[in-house]
Amino acid sequence: MRIDIATLFTDMCDSVLGESIIGRGIKNGFIEIYTHDIRKYTENKHRRVDDKPYGGGTGMVMQAQPVYDCVSAIIAQHKTRPRIIYMSPQGQVLTQAKVRELAAEDGLILLCGHYEGIDKRVLDELGAEELSIGDYVLTGGELPALIVADAVARLQKGVLPNEDAYSIESHYNGLLEYPQYTRPEVWRGRSVPEALLNGDHKTIAEWQARESLRVTAQKRPDMYKTYIDSQIDEFRREFLAAKNLPDDTEIAGIFHFEISEYWANELLKLILKGKKRATSSSLAAYKIEGDALPVKGQYSIVTDWDGVPRCVIKTTAVRVLPFKDITFELAAKEGEDSSLEEWREKHVSFFTEEGAALGYEFTWNMPVIFEEFRLEYKKHKEEK
Ligand code: SAM
Repeated sequence: MRIDIATLFTDMCDSVLGESIIGRGIKNGFIEIYTHDIRKYTENKHRRVDDKPYGGGTGMVMQAQPVYDCVSAIIAQHKTRPRIIYMSPQGQVLTQAKVRELAAEDGLILLCGHYEGIDKRVLDELGAEELSIGDYVLTGGELPALIVADAVARLQKGVLPNEDAYSIESHYNGLLEYPQYTRPEVWRGRSVPEALLNGDHKTIAEWQARESLRVTAQKRPDMYKTYIDSQIDEFRREFLAAKNLPDDTEIAGIFHFEISEYWANELLKLILKGKKRATSSSLAAYKIEGDALPVKGQYSIVTDWDGVPRCVIKTTAVRVLPFKDITFELAAKEGEDSSLEEWREKHVSFFTEEGAALGYEFTWNMPVIFEEFRLEYKKHKEEK
């Protein structure tokens, strides 16, 4: 890939591009980056490249002629027309998704403005797209162009040691990266998390995946919501395609069981193994929360505690009966307990706790919704 930066300050760019990882990437031929001095193209005998703005106002505007001639000379050096990008606070704001898109191009020209900016006519003539690095204003386009060049260059093959070096990093897949640690193992009484020390790749990968979700939810709830929504959307589409169901098939609910992380994930495991095939809930809780009662035949997506979709269940039977009338034959379908006493003990405690939080009181005559379901779909990789 080739990147050309058109600027009035080539030294500023060259000093950065010669250093560190990008500098080595250029030296080793994994990416070509050239800087071009717009001033060299001016036809003005005093080498001026700017003039006062029409309509008045402070500041100067970069003129069309030198910019046009500089960019045209660069285009002539490319086999196919490169994408022309004007660094501008008015442009679309740069994201990692945009960086990936730009990294797939053969050539980019990054045009740096200065002063009040560039005469609009030359931007129109060149068909330049505008790209911003954030909603604030800098004195010139050089730092923004260097940011784009750096972000795009590190995705070129060979610049980083391998694809893992960027594909697991923040933003690449819509999440932030998990925390990093290095030696010593204990520093000022703070230890490296246990999961990273045992050398078991599976445990480490699971810890990293969990931390990545946790860190994103904590630091960037906006990103987390977008990520989870996209995961649900993708999972729903996979499920409908796998079962040959129409696109408008209703998914009645998206939820995890239980009100604690441990139990939400434990019950999910039982569902995935086909051991848990029923659930009981308080009718009062449904009424207080304004939820519709489950209906035979409906589909629901079950997530883990973090909200990541893991399977689809289909409701096969729904009955409402007093708590005391639940037999072990029914309770056993919940897959958690080995006797009715155990089931009752756990559920009395759950309903008492939930009742205190929601505002209902547990009694032995309390109506319970007993919903039976079957595991309808899970991801292929869950099957082992
Ligand atoms: N008058 C312009 C405006 O209000 O939109 C701002 C011009 S700015 C002072 C000068 C140059 O810095 C711009 O032409 C652009 O190339 C660059 N620049 C400033 N902020 C930028 C940002 N957030 N992203 C990309 N380029 C920026």
